[in-house]
Amino acid sequence: MPFQRALDPTKRIPLAELHSHLGGAVDSAILWTLAHQQGIKLPTKNYWEFDRMVTISTDRKKLEGVTALDKEKYHWTELIQSSPLAMEPTVHETIGGAYRANHVVVHEIRYNPMKRNRGGERDLDHIILSSIRGMEQATLEYEEVRAGIILLLDRTFPFKLNEIIYQKTLKYQHRGVVGIDIAGPQHPDFRMQEYADLFQDAKRHGLGVTIHTGEEGDLSEMKFVVEKIQPQRIGHGFLAAHDRALLRSLVEQGIVLELCPTSNLNIGTIASVSKLKKMYRALYEARVELTINTDGPEMYGTTLWKEFNFLRENGVFTEEELSELRSNAMKATFVPANGSVGLI
Ligand SMILES: [Zn+2]
Repeated sequence: MPFQRALDPTKRIPLAELHSHLGGAVDSAILWTLAHQQGIKLPTKNYWEFDRMVTISTDRKKLEGVTALDKEKYHWTELIQSSPLAMEPTVHETIGGAYRANHVVVHEIRYNPMKRNRGGERDLDHIILSSIRGMEQATLEYEEVRAGIILLLDRTFPFKLNEIIYQKTLKYQHRGVVGIDIAGPQHPDFRMQEYADLFQDAKRHGLGVTIHTGEEGDLSEMKFVVEKIQPQRIGHGFLAAHDRALLRSLVEQGIVLELCPTSNLNIGTIASVSKLKKMYRALYEARVELTINTDGPEMYGTTLWKEFNFLRENGVFTEEELSELRSNAMKATFVPANGSVGLI
């Protein structure tokens, strides 16, 4: 039975993780040590308090509320990762750890380099190259692993700053930066329309394009993304379950959704397991290509296997369907089949 085999770490089915934010992917203990190595002043001297500061669980969300807290969590993880010294072990440990514990053999990691340069104090190229070195180190150590980096633009940044990140994506494409994404909360000055040309250009350059949309708010942005940008993948996108025409467009264009169940529940973008099941089933039954991801395993207290087990145990998908979703992720990765490092 596949599930039982999954419990044996040496015989686990190989997995692909396509949607994991570096800000949520690093073990609290590693962040704690990196903070101390860099002399970063933290609001607590107690490790367990720190652990609670940088992770979030459904139970605590109910007790504490989430919106402000979530921002604060990313503030600390991003600050601690904001140096070349921290970026290399951060990426290295994330890829190595996911391989050892979960047999993740295809691993895409995403982050915003401008949220890791302390407001311009650190050099962006140093930050990006350190993350590439961490990735190269991990793929050297674990020869089964293929990995790639997705650079994130941010809705709260002006276009000019996002354009700089895009230029870095192109600059390091030959070193394993495989794609581009945009994330962050809606902002009054943000217009997805302004980014259509940038994303089209990225596709022309052979980059993978994935866009965070259809996670909250109305569907107008997601409709624009699907019609005009036509990315290969969309981050979350589950609200499309409420719109038949949009579901049809996703299927017709072969756009793959990156679902992150525990994150949806912990952040509260989906209110309950039964609502999650209803939406995920509607997407699946419409034949939209789905993949399962963590969004940042350490922050949400999950792993890729926990996500699959959760979906099976709650009757969201059968084991057979989950196997199909696992193979969707293997097919939808932006990481080339022969690996991403040193390709020129
Ligand atoms: Zn995300």
